Amino acid sequence: MNARHSPEVGLPALLLQRLRSASADLRVLAAIDDQEGVFPNEAMALLTDMGLGRSVLPREHGGLGLGWERNVTGTLMDALRLLGALHLAAARLFEGHVNAFQLLWRHGDARQQQTLCRYVKEGGWLGVWNAPHASGPCKLIADASGSYRLLGRKSYASGAGSMTRALVTAFDDTGTLRMLWPDTSAAVVAWDSWPAEGMRASATYGVDFTGLRVMPEEIFGRDDVYHREPAFSGGAWRFLAAQLGAGEALFDLTREDLRHTGRTGDPHQRSRLARAGIALCTAVAWIESAAWRAESVHHSQAAIEATVAHVAMARACVDASLQEVMQLCQRCVGLRSQLRDHPMERVLRDLRTYLHQPGPDAVLDRVAQAWLDEPFPIRDTLL
Ligand SMILES: Cc1cc2nc3c(=O)[nH]c(=O)nc-3n(C[C@H](O)[C@H](O)[C@H](O)COP(=O)(O)OP(=O)(O)OC[C@H]3O[C@@H](n4cnc5c(N)ncnc54)[C@H](O)[C@@H]3O)c2cc1C
Repeated sequence: MNARHSPEVGLPALLLQRLRSASADLRVLAAIDDQEGVFPNEAMALLTDMGLGRSVLPREHGGLGLGWERNVTGTLMDALRLLGALHLAAARLFEGHVNAFQLLWRHGDARQQQTLCRYVKEGGWLGVWNAPHASGPCKLIADASGSYRLLGRKSYASGAGSMTRALVTAFDDTGTLRMLWPDTSAAVVAWDSWPAEGMRASATYGVDFTGLRVMPEEIFGRDDVYHREPAFSGGAWRFLAAQLGAGEALFDLTREDLRHTGRTGDPHQRSRLARAGIALCTAVAWIESAAWRAESVHHSQAAIEATVAHVAMARACVDASLQEVMQLCQRCVGLRSQLRDHPMERVLRDLRTYLHQPGPDAVLDRVAQAWLDEPFPIRDTLL
């Protein structure tokens, strides 16, 4: 992908305006990409052209610091929400790009940061491939020449086979999880490993890295920086924002359908629509407070733990809210919402799939632990 034709990223408001202007095109592409079930090249090229890919870069490199500069948190949330409503698979890929950049940028040295910025400036997309494969963890083995080889596989790698450089995690010989940014073009993609009903265009596949070379300068950070809090758990607000966008799209499509079919006067339909809207408002409030907490400065371990617990609550609550929205919207529209030619059908499939995020029980357990550790009455500690 070539960035020659791309405009400067410009101001945050301009970026969002460009995204809004591309709404119709992205909506059409979402339907086509879902049918084809492959990496959404055209949609991602549109995002490149509008400067969304390069928005993660620092300002001196022509970006906005999206994903790691605090003053643009609201812009990132709007972008994820908007894109989530239009093309959830592209939103997932963009979210992975933001996540990878902020991790590599924060933990890279000056030279690594330069290489990273050059790659993104030239239109390169990034992903984070961490989910383990059933065969066991991925390992980083030192070889005699001073470089390394990877051994093992990963599951659920969005953009696999299309992105040439993604952040990959692997354990070194001391058992420490390391962040790597190798050239992944020679990795073997299991193309048949994503028979999921939704997010078909997220190009999420299993990958075998065995034998892939990793140079010392492609190892970012020293210890297990990948799991450093609050960034690790706190960053969940970003996928919540993308999911929210899809929930909002469902609401709009449902309301449109009720108007079109002349069913807005029915009290049952009105009650369902009201409850769906309230559930979305709940999700918005949680995502905003989670983002605000996650992106603020943390001066103590206690503050970090409070944020991690707060974002865990947001995850549990947004998941419940969006499950409710899906159910209510399906009830409002009925069988037609499941028919292939109805615009709700794909959005429902995509959201249902994307709502599966790691360890939902562990998330709730973390919330319980935070409340159990609290010595004060709950009314004194509620935020
Ligand atoms: C569209 C999409 C794109 C994705 N892209 C990427 C990507 O690019 N990179 C990446 O790394 N990952 C990616 N993932 C994977 C994602 O990060 C999660 O790993 C995945 O969604 C986990 O879903 P799961 O339902 O299998 O979760 P699990 O965590 O396996 O949860 C399934 C159930 O088992 C429970 N459970 C979990 N652990 C245990 C345990 N030890 N004992 C008992 N019960 C347990 C959970 O609470 C839950 O009830 C993607 C996922 C999706 C949907």
